[in-house]
Amino acid sequence: MSKKVRVRFAPSPTGPLHIGGVRTALFNYLFAKKHGGDFVLRIEDTDQNRYVEGAEDYIVKSLVWCGISFDEGPNKNEKFGPYRQSERKNLYKQYADELIANGKAYYAFDTAEQLDAERKGHEADGKTFIYNWHNREKGRLVNSLVLTEAETQAKIEAGDDYVIRFKSPQDETLHLTDIIRGNIKIDTNVLDDKILFKSDGMPTYHLANIVDDHLMEITHVIRGEEWLPSLALHQLLYNAFGWEAPEFAHLPLILKPTGKGKLSKRDGDKMGFPVFPLEYTAPDGTISRGYKEDGYFPEAVVNFLAFLGWNPGTEQELFSLEQLVADFDLARVNKAGARFDPDKTKWFNHQY
Ligand code: GLU
Repeated sequence: MSKKVRVRFAPSPTGPLHIGGVRTALFNYLFAKKHGGDFVLRIEDTDQNRYVEGAEDYIVKSLVWCGISFDEGPNKNEKFGPYRQSERKNLYKQYADELIANGKAYYAFDTAEQLDAERKGHEADGKTFIYNWHNREKGRLVNSLVLTEAETQAKIEAGDDYVIRFKSPQDETLHLTDIIRGNIKIDTNVLDDKILFKSDGMPTYHLANIVDDHLMEITHVIRGEEWLPSLALHQLLYNAFGWEAPEFAHLPLILKPTGKGKLSKRDGDKMGFPVFPLEYTAPDGTISRGYKEDGYFPEAVVNFLAFLGWNPGTEQELFSLEQLVADFDLARVNKAGARFDPDKTKWFNHQY
C-alpha cells in the first residue's frame, strides 16, 4: 500500500451503539493499526429527525470501554475536522452546487404527494417507478416530475423549495470492486436519482459521506453490508467529482442464532446487547444500563466481536487486542453472514 492507510468509523448518533456497529469500529481499528495507519471517528449527524441527544457520548464511551481508541475525531487531534457533519454543513452545499454547474445533478421540486401519485401511475401500468431523469427515452414511462430548464428556472426565481438529485448516468455498466464481495456489475439504468441535498439545507448521508471520505483522505471504507446497495451511487459520485475512490470492504451481516435472518436490535437486546456497563437514556426517558453492569471483560467482548465474520486461521480461541491487530486480514473476512452464537458469550466472563 503506497498511501498512508486512513480508515474511519462513521456512526449516526441515532441511539446506543449496537453489536454490528462495534464490530465495524473494531475491524477498522484492527486494520488501521495493522498497517500503521490512522483511525478516524466521524459523527454523521445530518439527519435531524433521527438525532438522539447523548448518543454520541455513549458511542465514544462504548469504544473506549472496548479499548478501541481513535487517532482523530470529535475534540481529538482535529487534523481534517470538525468531525461532526452538522458543523460542516455549509461545505456540502458547495459540492452539490458544483455538480449542478457541471450538469451532473439537478433541482427537483416535487412534493411527497406528487411523488406518490407518479409512483402509483407507473404501478397502474405494471411498471416499477424509478426516479431518474432519462426515462423519457427508449419507450420507458415519462417521469413527469423531472422539469425542463425553463420550468426549473421559473421555480428557482419563485423561491420554491427544492432538493438536489444526482443524475444517474444512462446506459452504462458500472464495474465495482469490493475487497470482501469481489467484483460487482451494475446497470446504471436501474438506479434512482438519489437526493444529495435536502430542502432543510442539509446534505443527505450519501453526499456528506463521500465528500468527507475524500477530504479526510480515507483510503479504505470498511462498513456493514447494509451499505452495499449504496456502493454504485458512491462510486458514481467519485467519478462525477473526478476523485479517486477509496477501496471498499462490506462486512457480512450478523445473523440471528438460528442463522436465518438478520440479527435485529430487539434480538440483541434480548441477548444482552449492548453489553457495555454504561448508562444510556433513551429520548422517552427509559434508562438502560447494559445487560450486566460490571460482569463482562472488555477483552472477551472484543474477541467475540472479532470472530463475527472473521477467522484468524488458527485453533487459538482467545486473543489479546495486540494479537488481533497482528493477525487481522480483510482477506479472511467471510462473504456469508456471521451467525450470532449466544454460547460464545460465556467467554464474556473470562478474565485474562
Ligand atoms: N452513518 C452511517 C451509519 O451509521 C455510515 C455508513 C458508512 O460507514 O458509510 O451506518
